[in-house]
Formats: sequence, structure tokens, C-alpha cells
Amino acid sequence: RQVPMTIAFENTFRSLPDTLFAPVVPSAVRQPELIRLNDELAGELKLDAGWLRSPEGLAALSGNAVPSASDPIALAYAGHQFGHFVPQLGDGRAILLGEVVDRNGVRRDIQLKGAGRTPYSRRGDGRAALGPVLREYIVSEAMAALGVPTTRALAAVATGERVQREIGLPGAVLTRVAASHIRVGTFQFVAARRDETALRSLADYVIGRHYPEAAEADNPYLALLNLVIRAQARLVAHWVSLGFIHGVMNTDNMAVSGETIDYGPCAFLDAYDPNKVFSSIDEFGRYAFGNQSRVAMWNLARLAEALLPLIDTSPDRAVAQAEEALMTFMPHFDAARLFHMRAKLGLSTETPEDAGLIEDLLSAMHEMQADFTLTFRALSSLPVDGAPVALIGAFAEGPLRDWSARYAARVTLDPRPAEVRRQAMEAANPRFIPRNHRIEEVIRAAVSDGDYVPFHDMVAVLAAPYAEQPDKAAYAEPPAPGEEVLRTFC
Ligand code: AMP
Ligand code: MG
Ligand code: MG
Repeated sequence: RQVPMTIAFENTFRSLPDTLFAPVVPSAVRQPELIRLNDELAGELKLDAGWLRSPEGLAALSGNAVPSASDPIALAYAGHQFGHFVPQLGDGRAILLGEVVDRNGVRRDIQLKGAGRTPYSRRGDGRAALGPVLREYIVSEAMAALGVPTTRALAAVATGERVQREIGLPGAVLTRVAASHIRVGTFQFVAARRDETALRSLADYVIGRHYPEAAEADNPYLALLNLVIRAQARLVAHWVSLGFIHGVMNTDNMAVSGETIDYGPCAFLDAYDPNKVFSSIDEFGRYAFGNQSRVAMWNLARLAEALLPLIDTSPDRAVAQAEEALMTFMPHFDAARLFHMRAKLGLSTETPEDAGLIEDLLSAMHEMQADFTLTFRALSSLPVDGAPVALIGAFAEGPLRDWSARYAARVTLDPRPAEVRRQAMEAANPRFIPRNHRIEEVIRAAVSDGDYVPFHDMVAVLAAPYAEQPDKAAYAEPPAPGEEVLRTFC
């Protein structure tokens, strides 16, 4: 069924070789009900929120009808999953409705996640359970509010159907918005088939859509690689500055646009621990908090391999240039991380000792099992103003006591007035992150009681993560003993 719609859907991805996608129609669901519509994002996308809330809009958001201008497809990709190459993955439960050009002139994909089987579903049912849909909505929107490049959530719809996992669970569809859904694994897919024509078309498409400046370079494909490396280095540096763990950094879950994508068993750290792993499927800690930069670089080496035939006709020269490009990852990552950490410490100038000061803070926090988010937030209210520091709370004790004295000395060298610094620090150190135990509560209320009030409340709080929101203090609290989430699931 088609619904008439004024959305100006385009589908430029369809101009690529057709090995890269398969036409597909969403499968209808029994009883769609809108859980939440992201009005602000709808506005950004120039979509009519009123229409999206109408029965026809709901039909479009649940896959029960296809908007008239949409020509839906599922995208093919490959990927390394936990280090093992799988040549054929693809959108097994996601359907791309099309692209819209947003208010800023940026082309954005609109995709239904959980809208039914596709040619890439293998044994999967093509569906999504309510819990993971709510988690992705909460966390991706929180990441956006925290300023991290990310896919967005436009809507969540309950399907009125059950999906069978280990147990039967209520089903849902998430409408996801992305700069594009092209992954490192998309390049691996065409490279593994030795389809150089498709590889070149894909690379040209990505340059045109995400990195137009690469087209001006002497070697546009090498420039593309360098730009993706820089974008990913900055992205992962941003993650670690906020205590975010992606959880499944497979190459098929890494977008070449530089946005965070595929929120599965992701989590934010409570207590700081660089070795922390939450994901139930990450048996060996490959994707532990502190491994994320190395893993990103490993993934980018897989992208570089895929691009080799385009980088140079001589394989040796191609490898040498790709290796040189990959060598820039860690310097970009370290610089971006230092940039974020200096901002968190309220330092507007640079000294050679800053990196050490930051590492020592983190090791003290590790030793004390200090809450990552609250420790940095508290730092902004430390009254450091030339005079000796009035140490409070955790900063007055244990390993943080000595550190605080060094920090006070460093801050005194910084030219900004204390109040200006404090405000800048509050804008760099969130009070609210999507706490794992809170997410679990929200999911439990929705799944067991059909109660979405906690979900709406949490989304609203996380829309302003840097604001004090005194009446929402409970959302800032770390888990009480016994409340801690030990494992997260896809
Ligand atoms: P993910 O772990 O979500 O990154 O997914 C890995 C691969 O499995 C992708 O190709 C997904 O499309 C596919 N997949 C995950 N869940 C399902 C499902 N319920 N039905 C079909 N395919 C799925
Ligand atoms: Mg095809
Ligand atoms: Mg995925």
C-alpha cells in the first residue's frame, strides 16, 4: 500500500551498482502505535510532524504503507565481526525509505529498523524488540545532545506484535536518520567481490556525499581514506571523553561518515575503568572501553585494504600510502582526546604537562572507582581561584588529594576568570548521561507495564545534559549497590 506524501524522498544510493542493494518492501505490522515522535528532528528534516502523527504518517513509520516518493531498499555490506570476516551481511532488519535534504542542505537517510525481512536477513526475523528500540532512541538522542556525531531517532512505533527472542517480547520499529548508512563493511563488500567498478562508484559517491574536498586532491581516494581516518579518530576521542563504550565495533558498525551508528549493547561508564566491558557478546573484551581507539584503527586498516586498488595501480605504492595514512590515526586521536580533556579540566591554554595531569587524574579515578561523569562535573565546582583550593568530597581524600593540589597550581596559570572557566567546564562536563540502570528501568516499565512515562521523562532530561535541572537529580545518580548493570545485550 502506498500513502500519498509530500516528503521529497530521493534515493541517490539507487544510482550505485545494484550489487550494493536490493529493492524491498516493509512488512506490515498488526497494530502500530506511535510511542514517540522527535518533533525537533522532524523540523530539522523539513518533515510535517502533524502528518507524521496522522494515521497515514503512522502507517509510513511502521512500514504498513510506503510513502509515494519512496523506493525502499536494503543495503548490502560485509564486515569483520569480532575479527572474523563475513563477506555477506547487509540490512537484515533495516529498510532505507530514502533520503531527504535537511534544513542545512545536508542529505540524510531515513531508515526503518525492524520493518521486516530482507534478502539479507539470513535466519533473522527482520524485527526489533521494544527494549533495544527504546535504548537506541535514548542513547542516540543523548549522544546528539552531548554534541557527538551520531545517527538520530525520528520515531519509535510499537507494532502490537511479539518478536521471539529467548523469550517472546513486544516488537517495535525505530525510524533512524543518518548522514548515510555506508559502512566500512560496505567497502569491504565490493572489495571482497573484486568488483573495482562498484568500488570506484561507491568511493566517488562517498566523496560526493561526505567528503567533497577529497575530489580536489591529487589522489582523491587517498584523501578519502585520510578524511575517514580523521573523522573516526575524532569520533572515538569524543566517545572516550564522555565514558561511552560502543560495545560492538565490528567493521559493519562503523559508518564512513564519522557518525556513531548501531547502538546495541552500548553503555556509559559509571565508575571509571579502562578495562570495562558490558556487552554480553564481547567475551574477550575486544571492545573494552580503553581498546576503542586501537579497534577503530584496526577497522580503518580494513577500509584501507578495500581502497588499495583505487589508491595506486602499483600494489606496493598503494600499501605504502595507505600505511602512511593509517599512521595519522593515533596523532589525530591523541590530539582530539587532549582537546576534549583540556576542556573538561577547564584549561584554555596548553602546557606540556597537561597530558600527564590528565592521565594521573584518570589513574586516581580508576583506583578510587570514582564515577566518571560526576567526578568531572564536580571538578567544575572546585573553588580554585588563586587562593589554596578548598577541597571537597572525593577531591579531599586519597589519590585525588595530591592530584587536586597539582591541578590547582595548573589552573592558576590559566588566564580565564574563575567564573568564565566554571561556565565553560559545565558546558564540557555533562551532569546527565544515559545511566545503564536507568535505561533498564525505562525498558522494564515499557515492556512489563506498557508504561512509557519513564521513557519520555528520561529522553527529556537527556536533551539538556549540561543543564543543572535540580528537580531531576535522580537521573544524575550513579547506581546504588545492587542497581549496577553488569551486562548489556543487543
Ligand atoms: P548487528 O549486530 O545489529 O550489527 O547486526 C549484524 C547483522 O545481523 C546485520 O546484517 C543485521 O542486519 C543482521 N540482523 C540483526 N538482527 C536481525 C534480525 N532480527 N533479523 C534479520 N537480520 C538481523
Ligand atoms: Mg540488487
Ligand atoms: Mg550492525
